[in-house]
Amino acid sequence: MRVRDIIIATAAAMLFCTPLSAQSAEKEPIKAVIVAGADGSHYWQGACDVMKQILENSGMFTVDFAFTPGWNGIENYNPDFSGYDIIIINYGGPTFTEPVRRKFEKFVADGGGLVVIHSSVVPMADWKEYNELIGMGAWDGRDEKVGPYLYWEDGEYVYDYTPGGAGYHGLQHEVTINHRAPEHPILKGLNPNWRHFKDEIYTRMRGPVKNIEILATAYERGRHEPLMWTVTPESGGRVFVDLLGHCGSDPNMVYSMECTGFQVTLLRGCEWAATGEVTQAVPKDFPNEKHLSLRPDFKAPHHAY
Ligand code: ZN
Repeated sequence: MRVRDIIIATAAAMLFCTPLSAQSAEKEPIKAVIVAGADGSHYWQGACDVMKQILENSGMFTVDFAFTPGWNGIENYNPDFSGYDIIIINYGGPTFTEPVRRKFEKFVADGGGLVVIHSSVVPMADWKEYNELIGMGAWDGRDEKVGPYLYWEDGEYVYDYTPGGAGYHGLQHEVTINHRAPEHPILKGLNPNWRHFKDEIYTRMRGPVKNIEILATAYERGRHEPLMWTVTPESGGRVFVDLLGHCGSDPNMVYSMECTGFQVTLLRGCEWAATGEVTQAVPKDFPNEKHLSLRPDFKAPHHAY
């Protein structure tokens, strides 16, 4: 192929290539750092690798890792969050030391975004500010002292102060996700009811529930249980919590994250947490009430945008 032909071919290819975000070609990438490193019941390395692929394949994000030392040595963990737009936490390990807690809180208070994935609502129940940032949590000794259960009923929030522990899940299964704030930038334009591929559905969350907005629920064990929500802390910053994204105990068990619905809401949630807006187009392969949709390569297919 001669140089001129190559130029014409490249120009033609660019004409037919619609970027995920209308502005992504000109924009600086959003810089994300994933905090992880220990989890008693999840293959966290696989989940982190998959999320890095989902985010970087979009062309909108760069992703680094800030892994803890594991189950021993948390006192030596000293991550550097400077220069990042968002922290994504995917962690179920030992509670952070006071200096790391203050650094984490300051990152969000200074306007940083925080994205909280699946089992990250479990650890660190003894850290009051973390419970406020995530809005609600489960297990790890949480009970009525941390705040009410929160769920959705007949279009309203139900704050349930019944004493009792927090957190329950059954076996993994498919579930229908219902959007409860369809005009929120993370959800705007997406099918408001969609099938989510097999996942572990957490229920009976409870916590301080301050400045919380429920984005999506699923009907589980008799209640419309929140599975995605935002927290807008008075001190600053934006938090997106997504209880989806279970990743079982071996490397082949990342199927929950193969769901197009998970990937699209992760991408949109991360952009919103970083910038307060979502510039991403609505994809054509988003699931609906009848049909699942998977992106097993962790990137959008050519026909999606
Ligand atoms: Zn899980």
